[in-house]
Amino acid sequence: MPTTQTDPTTATAPAAEGLAACRFCAAPLRHTFVDLGMSPLCESYVPAERVNAMEPFYPLHAKVCESCLLVQLEAFVSADHIFTEYLYFSSYSDSWVEHARLYVDMAIERFGLGPDSLVMEVASNDGYLLRHVVERGIPALGIEPAANVAKVAQELGIETLVRFFGRDTARDLVAEGKRADLIAANNVMAHVPDLNDFVAGFEILLADDGVVTIEVPHLLRLVEDNQFDTIYHEHFQYFSCLTAQRVLAHHGLELFDVEELKSHGGSLRLYAQRESTGTRPVGQRVDDLIERERELGFDTLEAHLAFTAQVEETKWSLLEFLIAKRREGKRIAGYGAPGKGNTLLNYCGIRTDLLAYTVDRNPYKQGQFLPGTHIPILHPDVLAEDRPDYILILPWNLKEEIVAQLDYARAWGARFVVPIPRVEVL
Ligand SMILES: [Zn+2]
Repeated sequence: MPTTQTDPTTATAPAAEGLAACRFCAAPLRHTFVDLGMSPLCESYVPAERVNAMEPFYPLHAKVCESCLLVQLEAFVSADHIFTEYLYFSSYSDSWVEHARLYVDMAIERFGLGPDSLVMEVASNDGYLLRHVVERGIPALGIEPAANVAKVAQELGIETLVRFFGRDTARDLVAEGKRADLIAANNVMAHVPDLNDFVAGFEILLADDGVVTIEVPHLLRLVEDNQFDTIYHEHFQYFSCLTAQRVLAHHGLELFDVEELKSHGGSLRLYAQRESTGTRPVGQRVDDLIERERELGFDTLEAHLAFTAQVEETKWSLLEFLIAKRREGKRIAGYGAPGKGNTLLNYCGIRTDLLAYTVDRNPYKQGQFLPGTHIPILHPDVLAEDRPDYILILPWNLKEEIVAQLDYARAWGARFVVPIPRVEVL
């Protein structure tokens, strides 16, 4: 690590010059990765009775640390808000449960886990993953701060501690004689506001030869696939393999393997062990990916600073498309009301003059309005009645599935449009 930076474990004073400080190394954050402007929380759908009420907007301004290169957002939303009333039950997603099952099978075989092992999961949700561990007769412990989802896991017979994870939780478990042979941390490390406390907990809790696996969205995929709409307020940090390795190493954890996964638009699965006692050799995949990231410039500030121009170009070309079609008298509707669509529409300043409405299959969202833009969310049957000329697919990651579902719209000549990675008429 650069010698100029402050020790993250001791830095408590605010950074110089009144700037926000890097969450990892406490250097002042002076450089913009991308500034998406002021935006409401992307899942705060507006019910009809509140459509004239004020809405809170917060900066959606991702910065990159000049010292450690961690891309991050200042936390305007508390972890309590994100985690303690969590409404997302992982088991509702079949593909996610299957992803977890394959992971458990792999880990049991690769790390030789058995009835004498202990597997823990941080942010264990409703037990979607640990239930596969328990089924295999291996002791498991979930750690989950949202009491309502933890209760579902407990009812399935999965021991679950209702608590945030960090140093204190790890120390208390070790004091009870519990150390983990495997810790799984899937899609949680991007969401923790106190990154150092969180990662330090792994080193404390791991058995001497234990393994922690961490899944996080990969910054390289975000940049290469132009997925700026996946930046949202609850997602505090964005990792390259380089920055993840740096953060882990600072806390005594050695990255010994890495996989690139397709989930969430492209994620990393990081495998780490205690540097002091772990015995696994560092695999070739770590060196290969680090080398690839270096070739793409992820070890330089300049490469990170180039992202803004790419995002602005996407905004301008989407607006040019929508304005041109509206001038021709065409009518444009949206499909889907995902969080990422709200980031995109707010950033681009798209309102009902350009996108009259969107439709969504989720009955909870129908009749509500998109946050910030107040574009109405209607039932998908409206498309067949209204027959728009263009349908803008907001969950672009599901475009094949959606185009197949909406094949009937071709009968009246509708064309499908995706905004990301670039505006494209399908
Ligand atoms: Zn930093």
